[in-house]
Amino acid sequence: MMTAWRIAKYVTKKNKRFIWLYSRKNLTRRWAWTISNAPFNTAMYWPIGAIKIMKGQELLLKCETKEIADAPQPAEVLLPLRDFDIKKDKKKLKEDLPVKTGQQLKPGFFSTVTGTIKGFGPLTPAVAEPIYLRIAVSDSEEIDPLLQAEPDFLEQEPQALLEKLNRANLGFCEELQPVDTVVVSAVDEEPLIMVYGQLLRENKERVFAGLRLLKHLTSAQKVVLAVPQPLYSFVSGAAADGIEVHSVVPRYPNGLPEILIRDMAAAYNVDSHLFLNVEKLLAAAAALTDGKPFSHKVVTVIDKQGAGNYRVRIGTPLAELLKDRRIKDNDKVIIGGPFRGSTCFDLSMPVTAATDCIYIQDENEVAFFHNNQCLNCGRCVRACPVDLDVNLLGRYAEFAIFDQCLEMDLKNCIECGLCAYVCPSGRSLVQLLRLAKSEGEKLESELEKEAVNVLEDKQEENKEEKDGERLS
Ligand code: SF4
Ligand code: SF4
Repeated sequence: MMTAWRIAKYVTKKNKRFIWLYSRKNLTRRWAWTISNAPFNTAMYWPIGAIKIMKGQELLLKCETKEIADAPQPAEVLLPLRDFDIKKDKKKLKEDLPVKTGQQLKPGFFSTVTGTIKGFGPLTPAVAEPIYLRIAVSDSEEIDPLLQAEPDFLEQEPQALLEKLNRANLGFCEELQPVDTVVVSAVDEEPLIMVYGQLLRENKERVFAGLRLLKHLTSAQKVVLAVPQPLYSFVSGAAADGIEVHSVVPRYPNGLPEILIRDMAAAYNVDSHLFLNVEKLLAAAAALTDGKPFSHKVVTVIDKQGAGNYRVRIGTPLAELLKDRRIKDNDKVIIGGPFRGSTCFDLSMPVTAATDCIYIQDENEVAFFHNNQCLNCGRCVRACPVDLDVNLLGRYAEFAIFDQCLEMDLKNCIECGLCAYVCPSGRSLVQLLRLAKSEGEKLESELEKEAVNVLEDKQEENKEEKDGERLS
């Protein structure tokens, strides 16, 4: 029987037209421009090229000692403005307004430097969002007076402490829900990143003070510090009543929060939990003991000469952080690790509170994916840590059958990248899955709207019927 080939979609982007054909029957492709040809959405920014140089390293998480050095002070910082409201923000964030480090500029938004506001806008006219606030940095630093040191924090009420932490740019919630277990991770999330392990090495006492603080804040019965196996003996002796140390095999993806929480839930019989990493824990301890806001992020910078750890002011543009490094035009700069990071398209992008790693990949190491046909070898399925049928999901996504992707638990995908790492066919599986997720969300919201419309029509009909009956 002849296969019915259908046009799934015409896509017009930047004056280019993409035609996409699929067969719903057997999920194969006769001829199509796959999405890798289209500048579709941010799904395309996944740094798959990194995988090429990762092969053969057995996905080990590095637990090397790399001392943290201070990065130079930037001339200006860029802070992404969440919930930007042009009318309100223009009034509040006036040009030439002086600001202090840790000062709250709008709800939940804090300055990470002392300086003067220089205006706001997008990074480039081509990318409208997010809007960044520019602050020129002063030579001397002044901390916002609302932040005060509370060295005896264990004597204070949890709610009062929480308010202090929220003033320190730590983004805790308004009120802590009671939890039975707190999990703090000192396991770096991806190979090549060396932030959390090093922070633990350099701040062991303070980490345990932070763990006591969390126990006091949440009234949790158990606080578990997850550490990579090589650091276990370094900290295990400090475990105390209600504070445990858990050893994690330093192998990707064991340090990813989703995997760590899953493994902890199985090991410690966890009902409800609070999860945070050791850097945020240290920032919370520093906010209370020294009255300091969260203004610096530790970042592993990897270039062709090697890797180093730097304490970087949040908001520092990458161009400033990387100014002494040789970056060729076709090199790739990746923000984040080699598996979950995203490609940087503009070096004026700043370091944020979530930036763990900047990875400069040489142009000769960048791998290109060609989206060859799936061989049905099953390697991706065996590699997937959340047991998805990735071979099928990849094909459903490729042929725009997003409803089927949702039915196959696509939302459980944690975007770890292992499926693409092992795929012998070089399929860009993570981009396909990210695309399917974003299209699936649109589909769901359309279906929701349709369901609401149908319900409203039905109610209207019933009302008319009742009115008619009453009149007759
Ligand atoms: S990225 Fe691939 S391997 Fe990782 S969770 Fe998603 S489907 Fe599974
Ligand atoms: S690893 Fe690649 S080729 Fe093998 S089944 Fe998965 S998608 Fe297909």
